[in-house]
Parts: sequence; structure tokens; C-alpha cells
Amino acid sequence: MTSAAPGNTSEQTGQQGGSGTTIGGIVGAPSVSRAKDLVARVVGGKDHAPVEMTAPFTGKPIVSLPQATDADTRAVFDEARRAQRDWANTSVADRQRVLTRLMTLVLDRQQEGLDLVQVEAGKSRLDAFDEIAGTALAASYYGTHSARALGVKRRAGVFPVLTKTQELRHPKGVVGIISPWNYPLALTGLDVLPALAAGNAVVQKPDNQTALSALWLHELAEEAGLPRGVWQIVLGRGSVIGDAIVEESDYVAFTGSTATGKRLAGKRLAGKIAERLTSFSLELGGKNPMIVLADANVEKAATGAVAACFSSAGQLCVSVERIYVHESIREVFAAAFAGKAKDLTLGAKLDYSAGMGSLTSADQLKTITEHVDDARAKGATVLAGGKARPDIGPLFYEPTVLTDVTPDMTPFAEETFGPVVSIYGYTDVDDAVQRANDTQYGLNASVWSSDGAKGREVAARIKAGTVNVNEGFAASFGSIDAPMGGMGDSGVGRRNGAEGILRFTEVQTVATQRGLKLRPFKGMPPRLWARSLTAGVKALRHLPR
Ligand code: NAP
Repeated sequence: MTSAAPGNTSEQTGQQGGSGTTIGGIVGAPSVSRAKDLVARVVGGKDHAPVEMTAPFTGKPIVSLPQATDADTRAVFDEARRAQRDWANTSVADRQRVLTRLMTLVLDRQQEGLDLVQVEAGKSRLDAFDEIAGTALAASYYGTHSARALGVKRRAGVFPVLTKTQELRHPKGVVGIISPWNYPLALTGLDVLPALAAGNAVVQKPDNQTALSALWLHELAEEAGLPRGVWQIVLGRGSVIGDAIVEESDYVAFTGSTATGKRLAGKRLAGKIAERLTSFSLELGGKNPMIVLADANVEKAATGAVAACFSSAGQLCVSVERIYVHESIREVFAAAFAGKAKDLTLGAKLDYSAGMGSLTSADQLKTITEHVDDARAKGATVLAGGKARPDIGPLFYEPTVLTDVTPDMTPFAEETFGPVVSIYGYTDVDDAVQRANDTQYGLNASVWSSDGAKGREVAARIKAGTVNVNEGFAASFGSIDAPMGGMGDSGVGRRNGAEGILRFTEVQTVATQRGLKLRPFKGMPPRLWARSLTAGVKALRHLPR
């Protein structure tokens, strides 16, 4: 395992604040005053004790963040509700134009976005770029395809020609979006932008740790033409303001752990019965498998596994944590993969020199250390990594490859959410599929084969919302036209594609009846009417609709 020295240099040193005034004490990072400008965009909670977040690379302060109360949060919803009325009256074409301008701004100003994501989340610059790319793709996609998804659709009427039936889409109103820290920019883009495109206002609660990334996108969105007040950002612990978000919003889109998601769903459903008939989507955790078939190219599969397991230091919901390899190639795959893991460069610089960045929080470091230590103590073999690297930064942990992992060990079935993966052998592909599916989760999976058709056949048998063939996660994650989400304990609903925007709408059917009434004509015996209609219904299936 090689490492870059902890002293930081930036791609654009001199463009941002200098040493001593930069956030996180990181040379070349945005200045503290720039961060304060971004924080000024937060509306509620300015009168209460702020919290100070620290940079994963250095452990030094980033900026103070105002924390809203329950009452502040409810007031923000009132403002958002007022702003939503005018926004809903804009044309979809106008909203698309805002998103298209936003895409250009995100790409043109990416240096600052990359710095903020790296400083807050501790990512390598390449992993931070995935966030810029994901956000720009979301802005581009919804800036182009929203009108088609939201447009009035003609549906077959009860009587052809005589019944004109249309399907309309209306915004839900104010959408509450709760986001985690691990993909602060991309997950903001993928959820907030379609909600806005559909004519909703949004009240978003990003995680405190990564609030600046969301605030940066918020600033660019208003520069792109989004009216003030339509997208509101509130900051605060979920335990303090979560109830207000769940109760005040017309739809909740939550991304985070399965445990929190289930708690919120319980509240939401209880509220639904007691008070308001509203709905939600949940994007939750995973324990994602990869199957390497006997005919796979070992070199390509091992390279792909490095990206699949160690992107964003494994703190990625769709990251692979279990690899099932055919026995005929297991040893050679394990050696190649472990070698590549050892070769990954760890680093804390604001440039593209590192292959992997830091963990994001001390809680993450604790969980990952516990998982690896538990496996090692119970007899697992560590093929690569297996230890923290405080010499690089306070939260660095080596990319870790385990084998001989058994069901009594924590990383066997529990989501680690870090750079830790276990390799298992198999001889029969049915057994590999059965073991891949032997989990409460069903978020993402990966299959490797030199025969694409065979790979797709195995993929279709895996219980997961997305499956990538000869890729770890990026192929499906980047295919924004296709839905992404989880089965089982990995979630409810889907983001991306048409479903990604339609979840933020109320569907309405408007049917206009011409000529023939749907009741017996004057003087017609009901029995004759029923007989005529019976014949008519039978004939309907022969008519083109
Ligand atoms: P988490 O603890 O569930 O927190 C996620 C968000 O929910 C944070 O903003 C958190 O804020 C907030 N929250 C916590 N309790 C809340 C409550 N009672 N009411 C309202 N909000 C509340 O998850 P995490 O540890 O940050 O994120 C990692 C997990 O997210 C992993 O399991 C990962 O697999 C999953 N994830 C899933 C996807 C996906 O698309 N399926 C994407 C990314 C991550 P506070 O911490 O401030 O309370």
C-alpha cells in the first residue's frame, strides 16, 4: 500500500483561500469566508447553538453550521409552500431550461465542487468527480426528458372515439428530502432536481457533515434561474427535525440506513392512517454481491473489483462487499485482486494523485475496525490491508481483502459500508446465485463473464434492483434513464428514469364522454342495456386501442 504525504496541495492553489484561512486547514481548499457565504443560504436555526464539523483529512474544523429546531423547520415548510404555487405555474420547458443551465454551471465550476466534496467527505478527487458527473447527468437528463415524462398522455377510453381519456401529472406540493453524507452532491442532484422539475418545492435536510456540497449546488441552481424559496435547505439532527420533515411534507424521499428508513416509514405510515394520506421512497443499505463466472477474464474482473469495492473507500450504497469466484480461478483472482488493492495509493491531497481517500467519520472508522478485527479474531485470512493509517490522516483505513470468512463473523452478512470485501469460492453457479441472494438486502450486484448473454442470464436471477455485467456499479448508476433502487430491506420506490420524476407527482385521469351516454337511453329497459353492453365489451378486444 503506497501513500501520499498528508500535506495537501490543490490543483488550483491560489484560486481559493490560502493556508490558515481555508476550511479544514487544508491548503488550497475554499476559504472559511467562502464557506460562511454558503452557510448563509440556510434559512432556519440561525439563533441557536451551531455545530462545528471537522474535515476527515485533517480532523480540523470546516465551518459552524446553524441547527434548526422543530419549529424552525415547520416555518421553512410554510415558506416553501408559498413559493411552490408560482413554481408549479411555470411551464415544464422553463424548468428544464433552469436545469440545463445548472448542468453547465456544475461542469464549468467543478473545481470548487470537487474541493468541497473532498474536504467534507474525505474522498479522492476521482471519487469526488463521480459526484460532479452524477449531478451534471441528473441536471442534463431532467433538463431534457421531464416534459416527456410529465406531459399529458392519451389513454384508451371505455368507448373508442367517444371517450377521450387523458392522464395528467401534478406536483405533490412540498417534497421533504433527507440525504446522507456519503454522496452529498450526486444524491442531492438525483433527488432534488427531478422533484423541482415536476413543479414541487423542496425542503432538504443534508447531513451536517457534508452540508456545504448541497449548499454549493443550491447556489448554482439559483444562479441558473431557480426562484428563491423553491428549494430550502435546513440543517439539524434527524432526531430533532426529522418528525417535522416527515409530518410537513407531501412526499418524503429518504436515503440512508435501513434502520433509520424503517423507523421513518413506521412514522410515515402511522401518520398516514392518523392524518394525511401521503407517500415516500426509501433508498437504503445493501450487502452487494459480485459473481465471477469460470469463463471471466481474471485480470479485468480483478481490476473491476477494485473500483467496485474501494470507490469512495467503500462508503457507497452500491459497493461490492462479497465476491463469489469459481473455484477454477479463485486463487489466481484472489492474488491479482489483493495485489491491486495493495497497490492503491491512499492520499489526502486536493488533486488526482490518490487511488483512495479517507473514511468520512470516526463512527465509520470504528465500525470498519470492529468488522475486520472480529473476522480476524475468528480465523479469517487478511489478504490485503486490515489496518488504519493514522500516518496519512486520522480516518484512513487500508483497502482490505478477506477470505475464509464464516457466517459467525460480522462482515459475512452485515453491511460494513467501508473498504472491506470477502472472497468466497463456488463450484456450481446455482449455488453462487443462491448465496448471493441469501441476504435481507437487494440493492446492487455484479456478474463477470466473457459471454455477455450468459452474464445477463445470471444477472436476471439475482435479487437486486440493479445488476451490472462486467462492471461493478457505474454502468447502472450512470444510466440515469433507468430506475435505481432496492428490493427487500434495501428500499421502497426508485430514483432515476421516468419513475424517478413520476414519484414526485400525483396522477390524475380526466375522461371526457361524447355522444353515447354510459347509462341506458331514455326508455331503454336496463336488461337490454346490459345485454348490449355485454356484446360491446366482448367486441372491444378486437378493436385497435
Ligand atoms: P443514516 O444514519 O440513516 O442517516 C441518513 C440521513 O438520515 C442523515 O441525514 C441523518 O441525519 C438522517 N436521519 C437520521 N435519523 C433521522 C430521523 N429520525 N429522522 C429524519 N432523519 C434522520 O445513514 P448514514 O449512516 O448517514 O448513511 C449510510 C447508509 O445509507 C448506508 O446504510 C448506505 O447503504 C445507505 N445509503 C443508501 C443509498 C441508496 O441509494 N440506496 C445511498 C447512499 C447511502 P443525522 O445523522 O444528522 O440524524
